[in-house]
Amino acid sequence: MVEVRDPRRYSVTSPNASVQERLFRSLVEYAPTGVAMVDRFGTIVLVNRETERLFGYTPDELVGQSIDMLVPRRLLGSHAGFRAQFFESPQRREMGAGRDLFGLRKDGTEIPVEIGLNPVETDEGVFVLASIVDITARKQAEARFRIAVEASPHGMVMVDPQGRMMLVNRETERLFGYERSELLGQPVEMLVPHQVRAHHPDVRAAFAADPRSRPMGAGRDLYGRRKDGSEIPVEIGLNPIETTDGIFVLASVVDISPRKRAEEALRRSNEELERFAYVASHDLQEPLRTVTSYMQLLSRRYRDRLDGDASEFIDFAVSGAKRMQRLIQDLLTFSRVSTRGEALQLTDADIVLQGVIANLKAAIAESNASIACDRLPQIIADPVQLEQLLMNLLGNALKFRGTEAPQVHITATRTGRFQRFSIGDNGIGIDPQFFDRIFVIFQRLHGRDDYPGTGVGLAICKKIVERHGGRIWVESKPGSGSTFHFTLVAASE
Ligand code: ADP
Repeated sequence: MVEVRDPRRYSVTSPNASVQERLFRSLVEYAPTGVAMVDRFGTIVLVNRETERLFGYTPDELVGQSIDMLVPRRLLGSHAGFRAQFFESPQRREMGAGRDLFGLRKDGTEIPVEIGLNPVETDEGVFVLASIVDITARKQAEARFRIAVEASPHGMVMVDPQGRMMLVNRETERLFGYERSELLGQPVEMLVPHQVRAHHPDVRAAFAADPRSRPMGAGRDLYGRRKDGSEIPVEIGLNPIETTDGIFVLASVVDISPRKRAEEALRRSNEELERFAYVASHDLQEPLRTVTSYMQLLSRRYRDRLDGDASEFIDFAVSGAKRMQRLIQDLLTFSRVSTRGEALQLTDADIVLQGVIANLKAAIAESNASIACDRLPQIIADPVQLEQLLMNLLGNALKFRGTEAPQVHITATRTGRFQRFSIGDNGIGIDPQFFDRIFVIFQRLHGRDDYPGTGVGLAICKKIVERHGGRIWVESKPGSGSTFHFTLVAASE
């Protein structure tokens, strides 16, 4: 408590001030905070420049007047009561804690203020020394923050260090089905599903111990609990906000039910499509076999009785049926990539490659190809599908050769958690405009007479690589060979 004998001695005009008094006076006079001393009757006995500036008065217009002239009319009643209370038990305090305070300016406008009160005991009784801070800028910043939060398309929830919701926006009300008044001041746990509610304070404590902006529960499915007890899948971003009262958390909540529904619909439709492809290709084989075998019977038994045209027509029909059989078999293989895949396991890619080279021995010899390969590493894969993958890529490298004998180069490079395999050839190459198309089922760039095939091979490769969590792509120029790259998870992972 400041001991002052006569507060009037500190009025700006005092003629007999000692050096120390002058210093003290200028301290008050030029303080960036408004200062006003008031007696128990509410009379202003001292003000500084900042108070005059804040309220728009010139020097000496305030001293001797009632403090009420600085209080908005509508607050006068409660102000008188408050003053009486203060002088009954004078102690240092904030004025109107928790309520918004306003000052009345000379021009009739109001300014938001924060007021601290200190009792000052003198021979002439107790005075109150009020410090007044203009909080217009802070209020404006707060208002802007509120507008931004309110306008956010995400649910925004500000949680205090005790886990109570201090601010929620309209979207939060909509998402969780509560009125704002039902949420404010309540523990945030009321928005958390029952089964994880008990654990949630630990989650908050962990965040407070390492406060960084980050998604909540990365990699896990999060749910929010609505007022009606239903749960919604959500994605939550957490942002720490440091305040003098500790670390607050601003959580942004996005309802991901539409995305989940779309993913589920896509999964179901993919499954149906695969079932359809499987059933169709499986069931189509039987009648096709009948057609083929009766055509062949016809040709064998009646060849001498038919004329040249008829025999030719039968040959066309048989080769058409055989082609269809191949297409159906490839389609079946394609649909089996996801339905009949084996578990991913530690696989020695080198052993698999040697098996593939052995299988292609005839084609290699026939095309006079030379094959150079690194020692391939161990990876995590379905060995049967890895064999299929290498078989298709190596088969294509031999098939799409130019005029020279094929030279194929197979390498593997570690890139992060993946191994990148590359199969380069010196064949006819591919125009970059077709890089995407060749991985689509039944898409081919050549006629059957130039190069045999069904256009399913690369689609199978893509499906296999994607089932393994990797990527497949091609680099090529027409006439300069092609290199197909794909990535699979390396063994150490
Ligand atoms: P298919 O080999 O039955 O035609 P793919 O799906 O394996 O079917 O390949 C699709 C198309 O991609 C091929 O028709 C060919 O035009 C092109 N292609 C694939 N591999 C190569 C390669 N190594 N060199 C040049 N073109 C290729």
